[in-house]
Amino acid sequence: MGETKYIFVTGGVASSLGKGIISSSIGKLLQARGYKVTIQKFDPYINIDPGTLNPYEHGECYVTVDGHEADLDLGHYERFLSIQTTKSNNITTGRIYKSVIDKERRGDFLGKTIQVIPHITDEIKRNVKLLGSKYKFDFVITEIGGTVGDIESLPYLESIRQLKWELGQNALCVHLTYVPFLAAAKELKTKPTQHSVKELQSLGVQPDVLVLRTEHDLNANLRKKVALFCNVAEKAVVQSIDASTIYEVPLLMQEQGLDETILEKMGLPVGERPALGPWKEFLNRRANATEEVTIALVGKYVELQDAYKSILESLSQAATYNDRKLKIEYVQSEDLTPENVVQCLGHADGVVICPGFGSRGVEGKFIAARYTRENNIPTFGICLGMQCMAIEFARNVLGLEDAHSVEMNEKTKNNVIDLMEEQKAVTDMGGTMRLGAYECVLRAGSKASEAYGQEHIQERHRHRYEFNNAYRDAFENAGMKCVGVNPESDLVEIVEIPELKWYIGTQFHPEYSSTVLNPHPLFLSFIKAAIQPK
Ligand code: GLN
Repeated sequence: MGETKYIFVTGGVASSLGKGIISSSIGKLLQARGYKVTIQKFDPYINIDPGTLNPYEHGECYVTVDGHEADLDLGHYERFLSIQTTKSNNITTGRIYKSVIDKERRGDFLGKTIQVIPHITDEIKRNVKLLGSKYKFDFVITEIGGTVGDIESLPYLESIRQLKWELGQNALCVHLTYVPFLAAAKELKTKPTQHSVKELQSLGVQPDVLVLRTEHDLNANLRKKVALFCNVAEKAVVQSIDASTIYEVPLLMQEQGLDETILEKMGLPVGERPALGPWKEFLNRRANATEEVTIALVGKYVELQDAYKSILESLSQAATYNDRKLKIEYVQSEDLTPENVVQCLGHADGVVICPGFGSRGVEGKFIAARYTRENNIPTFGICLGMQCMAIEFARNVLGLEDAHSVEMNEKTKNNVIDLMEEQKAVTDMGGTMRLGAYECVLRAGSKASEAYGQEHIQERHRHRYEFNNAYRDAFENAGMKCVGVNPESDLVEIVEIPELKWYIGTQFHPEYSSTVLNPHPLFLSFIKAAIQPK
């Protein structure tokens, strides 16, 4: 296409309006027109990455193929666009400052005073443009975390101001705001949007497109009013009304011509509206599925909506492709006891034992793993979940009562889950786990290899502990098979009990690579097993 076009997505009025979904939807619509698109997220916090943040602070930590611990919005980008993101797709203020300070220490600035403008803003701009110049994308969409008006966002908004000036028609700003409905007055209120746009304008940034998040339909007059007050064309005021699924949002944006408005503003030919056939087919299947599949999620963060985001999305995609409606039941692993396990899990069609760190709630995961193993309920253990399956098996089948992970009990004699060799010298906690995509070879004839339909796979990891190979033979002989192994390190990546309907644990995180149009084979096969008559 020639020069890369840059779209910035900012947010105002409130957080959690769905900038990630709007960015992904714009990306989807442009991609459907044949453009090469990527999306990046800039987070205005000081942490280098979200890897050291706990889920109460930040929801799920997403992992890219190149081993970057990233913001969960990157999960949306990948699920919508079926692309793979990298370290360059998620930048934080911490990383920007670190890079500038490192340069300063090296003497790169030749004695100059280092300031927010131009040094920090130059580094932000360099990172905005990096994907465009390095990988020749047609569109780079940059989502700015936080809300306009935050102190932390200022250098990012200043960078957008400068880039809009430098790049002219090749840069555009989409601002997402909220239009509240005052029940007492029975009125939708645009004032917060007007103020938010004013705030943006006061920083020198004129938004080109406004997306108004709303729970009620916004009529033409209201949009006209917003356009008039905010210096935006009427056509460029688009509503984003609550949808039954986030995957409907691209279609809702397309109906209002959001992609066309963007193309026109950027001086590109508009052409025909893409049909989005497979996407619509997915949505139709989802809408038409009436029968439910009940999956219990056993974890310690079950009260947090975003802690298991990618697992939930993967399950819901797999349910759709099995023509089922997903019903999730959250089971707090801390509260699970041998007495209440039947009541909590007995009726579930399938159980997921979730990833995690530390001791809290881990005993409940053992109880779940034992109950589903003994009652032949399809079970999917992911990362810590897989480790719990192995520990439970060691304790109750191999008779190793004190079997544990060294993570929870450093002194255990039966360390069936042990600290990886390469982790022993690690002292820093940030970015030092076994991270990113690694190869895995599957055993022919296993359920896992049947699901994948291939022998060599690549999956993403995020862990420090690992199945202890000293116990491999004992496990194999007793019926828990190590059916996925890393060919270089010989680390066990998948265990399964072939005798059971579906009892598989993965050391890796398959949930990071399930997308709307390419649902993950293990999730598909898990749901397929879960819906078999009991
Ligand atoms: N805490 C475990 C480990 O570090 C599992 C990690 C996870 O579930 N992501 O190995």
